[in-house]
Order: sequence, then C-alpha cells, then structure tokens
Amino acid sequence: MSSVDMETIVSLCKRRGFIFQSSEIYGGAGGCWDYGPLGAELKRNVKEAWWKAMVHDRDDVVGLDASILMNPQVWVASGHVQQFSDPLVDCKSCKSRFRADHLKENKCPDCGGELTEPRMFNLMFKTFMGPVQDDAAVVYLRPETAQGIFVNFQNVMSTSRKKLPLGIAQVGKSFRNEINTGNFIFRSREFEQMEMEYFVKPGTDDHWFQHWLEQRFNWYVKLGIKKENLRLRPHAKEELAHYAKGCYDVEYLFPMGWSELEGIANRGSYDLEQHSKFSGKDLSVFEEETKERFTPYVIEPSAGVDRSVLAFLLDSYHEEVVEKEKRVVLRLHPALAPIKVAVLPLSRNEKLVPLATDVHSRIRGAFMTQYDDSQSIGRRYRRQDEVGTPYCVTVDFQSLEDKQVTIRDRDSLHQIRIPIDTLRATLMAKLAGDDFDVLPPGGSLVTGGKS
Ligand code: ATP
Repeated sequence: MSSVDMETIVSLCKRRGFIFQSSEIYGGAGGCWDYGPLGAELKRNVKEAWWKAMVHDRDDVVGLDASILMNPQVWVASGHVQQFSDPLVDCKSCKSRFRADHLKENKCPDCGGELTEPRMFNLMFKTFMGPVQDDAAVVYLRPETAQGIFVNFQNVMSTSRKKLPLGIAQVGKSFRNEINTGNFIFRSREFEQMEMEYFVKPGTDDHWFQHWLEQRFNWYVKLGIKKENLRLRPHAKEELAHYAKGCYDVEYLFPMGWSELEGIANRGSYDLEQHSKFSGKDLSVFEEETKERFTPYVIEPSAGVDRSVLAFLLDSYHEEVVEKEKRVVLRLHPALAPIKVAVLPLSRNEKLVPLATDVHSRIRGAFMTQYDDSQSIGRRYRRQDEVGTPYCVTVDFQSLEDKQVTIRDRDSLHQIRIPIDTLRATLMAKLAGDDFDVLPPGGSLVTGGKS
C-alpha cells in the first residue's frame, strides 16, 4: 500500500495549494473540488502525459473534444436513461443515505438504524436547454465522455482518412450525482475522464483487448507508480454488462484498499449498433480489401483524471530523516511535477539578485519554473521537495566569479556545479531522463551530496 494515509495527503494538498474544497468559504459543495495553482499544473501534466501516450505517440489514434451537453436521445440509446442507476437506501432513524451495494450489512453504518427498501436512483444530472423549463427541454450533463466519441464515429472516420483499427481519444469533464462521495477526490460529482474508443474489425478484438490491457497498465508504471501497488482485476461474470465480452479494472492500492483507477472493456458492437438503431444512421464500415461491411467492435480504456492524480500523489509521497530533520518529498515523475525547476538565490543580497534573475530568465519558457528568494535556503529546499520539484538551481556568491550554479537533485540529494551557459540544455536533458550525475563540459560533482 502507499505508505501514507489519506489525511496526510489531504492536508498537504490544502497547505501547499494543490486541491481545495469547492466553494469553501460557503461551507463547500458536496463532492466537488477545486485545483489550486500546483494542483492545476499536476492535473494538466497527467492529462498531457495521457494525450501524448494515446494520441501523439501513435498513428492509429486521433483526438476529439465533444460538447458536454448532447441531444437527450443519446442517453436513451446508450441505456443511461433507463439503467444508469445505483440502489439508494435511507436510514429510517438518522436519515443518512447510502448506496446499498456499498454496505456490508443491512443496517445503517452510522447509527445502526433500520434501512428502507432500495430504490433505483439515476445518477445523471438534469438541466434544461433554452428558456422553457418543461419536460421537452430536459438535457443531461454527460456522465461519461464516451458517447461523444460514438456519435462522432462517422464524422471522424470520413474526415481523418484513417482505416481500422482506429482509436478516438477524448479528455473532459463528466458529472455523476453520486449518492455518497468520499475518499477525497476519489469519488466526486464533477470529475474528469480520459477515454478512448478503439474501433476494430470483429475477430481482432481479443488481440487488441490484450494490447490495451498491457499499454494502460504500463502507462502508470512508466509514470512512477510502484508495480506492487497496481493490479489488473478481471470482472466477474455478474459484474459484466450484458453486451460486454470482457472487462478488467486497473486498480491501485489506495489507503481504503484496492479501488478502480481505470476500466478497460471489450464492448463488442453494442454502442454503434444502439446509435444506429436510435438515430437511423448506418454506422457500419466497408472494408475495401475484403469487400466486407461490418459494425466495428470497440475496446474502451476509460480512466479518471482525478483518481490518477490521487494515486500519483499517494504513491510519490515519501518521508525520511536527513540531518536529524524530517524531509517530506513527493517523488513525482518529472513529466508530472508541477514545477520542474526552482531558482534559488542564496540570499536577497543586492549583488546576487541580478544574476539570479538572469539565470531564471534563461530557463523559464522551456518548462515550468519558480523563483523563490524568501526564507533560508534550507527551508526553500524543503518546500520544493514537498511539492515534488525535481531540480533546484542555487545561485551563490561564487557564481558571480565563476559564472557557475549548483543544481540539486530532489531524490538523491546529489549536487552538481555547472556553467550557466550549459544550464538550460542540461536541465532539459535531465528532465527527459538523463542520469543526474552526467556532467556537461566544465561541470563538477559537488561533495557532501546530502543537504
Ligand atoms: P465506480 O465503480 O468506482 O463507481 P465506475 O465503474 O462507475 O466506477 P466507470 O463508469 O468505468 O466507473 O468510469 C471510468 C472511470 O471514471 C473510473 O475508472 C474512474 O477513474 C472515473 N470515475 C468514475 N466515477 C467517478 C467519480 N464519481 N469520481 C471520480 N472519478 C470517477
């Protein structure tokens, strides 16, 4: 399990400006969260890492950005209007509400009181489109991004000049009126998803299903999640939707136990068939080589941005004692770290400031940086460690003479001293994965690594 409990992460997130309760000054909004300056960077980085792996690094996947509000028929065709419901029970004594399928016993977990019979509660948020608030104007906030992909399948197929297999990827907000939210950002009512529908010829679906199970599992590992905290759990028969041929969850060992980060499903041709039936539009494809017409099958990896952010925070959290003091460090992968490099003049001395500002201006723009000259250098190092900044660049009095600066590595605490002229290129190489102790011409390893 991650070595840290949820309270520690919640408190770090609030204290350092990663995540705040939504509308906090009004007492909050149930199950909604706001990402502060560092959280906004981290979340963007998670989405960018996903987009890079899924779209930019592949020839067979393209992107989409569909609207949140859709024609309400979409949700009839997809089955959400009839079936996107959880069983709701009320406690007859304390009036608390619960999801019946999340309870271990048939009594209120808060007060032990008797529960009502379960009734099905639809999780879609309803609103009205246009000025008249009647039944005909009801629309839904999308509870998943996937349907925007299915209804655009023909548009994308015919404009992208691609053949099957073809993936369409999308990142965006989804909304679910969850009965119980909780575990910080793990289950909220407004959240973001990273979903991809990979359309394939029937018969090749088992191969592609395996392919995506591996790809998606490895994505988390490459970005630093420890393998022992991740698992692929196959769905039991009774968990599977009636049309699904197979489904696995990528689960992370959260402090509350193994829980879903992402679902990967072989959905057969169900979605395209349903939309074909309800829209009256033919959504099959014609394969030139074989002269065959068929409705593609689809493999769907569907991940949660917020759950990934939480897993990356928990898994990277590390405490150690350095020189008799506790050091808290987020060992975030450089691609995810909100701030890549901090520039720290040794002090606010008037001779140092112009050089430190010049050093900062030479590297900013290449990646996210922060200039920090308040408090002691030791405190500033600790602050950067706690938010996961991979490298700190220190400008000291010797820098005025030798035009060199010191770089400190967050994880090993090694320090190297290199010419300012080589700083930008060196940092870029190290952020891209170069060994920290590899030195540019004129550089040297500083002794006494730990500080
Ligand atoms: P759960 O069983 O936890 O309710 P689900 O199986 O309904 O999740 P999916 O419909 O498969 O979830 O959604 C795909 C992904 O979207 C999930 O793996 C998760 O990462 C994310 N997700 C779903 N619901 C929420 C939520 N309420 N808050 C945050 N993320 C969510």
